[in-house]
Amino acid sequence: MSGIIVQKFGGTSVQSPERIKAVAGRIAATVERGHRVCAVISAMGQTTDELIELASQVSPDPPVREMDMLLTAGERISMALTCMALDALGHSAVSFTGSQAGVLTDPRHGKAMILDIQPDRVRAALDGGAIAVVAGFQGMSTDTKEITTLGRGGSDTSAVAMAAALGAEYCEIFTDVEGVFTADPRVVESARKLHVVSYDEMLEMASSGAKVLMLRSVEYARNHNVALHVRSSFVDSPGTWIRGEDERMERAIIAGITHDVTEAKVTLKGVPDQPGIAAKLFGDLAEAGVNVDMIVQNVSAEGHTDISFTVNRDEAKKAATLVAKIAGEIGANGYDLDETIAKVSLVGAGMRSHPGIAAKMFDVLASSSVNIEMISTSPIRISCVVHEKDATTAVNALHSAFELEAESALRDSHVGVERIDSGDEAESSSAGVA
Ligand code: ASP
Ligand code: MG
Repeated sequence: MSGIIVQKFGGTSVQSPERIKAVAGRIAATVERGHRVCAVISAMGQTTDELIELASQVSPDPPVREMDMLLTAGERISMALTCMALDALGHSAVSFTGSQAGVLTDPRHGKAMILDIQPDRVRAALDGGAIAVVAGFQGMSTDTKEITTLGRGGSDTSAVAMAAALGAEYCEIFTDVEGVFTADPRVVESARKLHVVSYDEMLEMASSGAKVLMLRSVEYARNHNVALHVRSSFVDSPGTWIRGEDERMERAIIAGITHDVTEAKVTLKGVPDQPGIAAKLFGDLAEAGVNVDMIVQNVSAEGHTDISFTVNRDEAKKAATLVAKIAGEIGANGYDLDETIAKVSLVGAGMRSHPGIAAKMFDVLASSSVNIEMISTSPIRISCVVHEKDATTAVNALHSAFELEAESALRDSHVGVERIDSGDEAESSSAGVA
């Protein structure tokens, strides 16, 4: 029997009856090429937001259990309509809620984690020649038997987890962008769609500002080795493959440049340079539930030092208030809050084996008169905090200095991709669907 493919369609892909019919057409075309398809569907358009708004009109603080009952209704609507559209095209299709599909989670309403998937009913439907359409974003707690949701944007994770449980050949994520780009195309005109990125690169890109995929879904894909294909549901061209690194692939050094303007910088000034201060500061922040990203401690001068860190802008005021209090307690000189920063990151697995990338990055920023305020690195990422007004200049200068606009012979002739991608010629010829 032919292999299983999981196809996930997000809210914009199913926002109207016309779009649902187009999605059904795309699923049907995949089936007609000989694949078995399990589709994972999000709620139509802004449905989830509208349901949240509706809840707020009847209660200032809706019980989390009832909130999940309400929100999971969104995906019920789109999955049933998708099956009806498939039926109208002459295909047999069966929809499943998360619990029917065997998506088992922990009991935390609104932010449940998938513990296991037991997709017996889905598999039986596929084996019987039907298309299975599964509601994304939802599951059932093994503990409480209650219906849960996975957190906003959770359908990506549903799809990847379903692909892992079914042993699918790959998981396609249909969305409103054409794939993963070398930089945000709204900021860099010559940004180019990447044919392939590794899980590690995608994780770094997603956590440093690229918004294509929910971070958790990429983690899940890496942990279960599910090949992902992120592509547009509006055009037919292939998108970006996300998969494990393969030694046979020749890699470009840099995959892409991301930027993030959602963070703020807090500095605790004139801190006495003695043991235990950083532990207290970050301990208190953690206790208050503030997520810290970058941290820099300066060289101390005359027994005092400055400690700067970045947090999400939503949490900046809370962090600053806490820091002000700590400053008083430890006899520091006060604090600074800067909400006009941008984090610009260079990501690429090739960095591991190519020295000098950081030096070149700093050099490019210097020649563009962009001042670096903070630096942090991982083995495959270098991030610099700059002033928000310099973000566009910085990203463009780096994009051209590292020649990312050029279709790199190194990156884009992946033998490995052609192998996995072989169904794609057929895909591109299925013009007109979705
Ligand atoms: N419908 C849910 C949301 O809007 C889940 C998803 O779209 O992935 O967050
Ligand atoms: Mg949505």
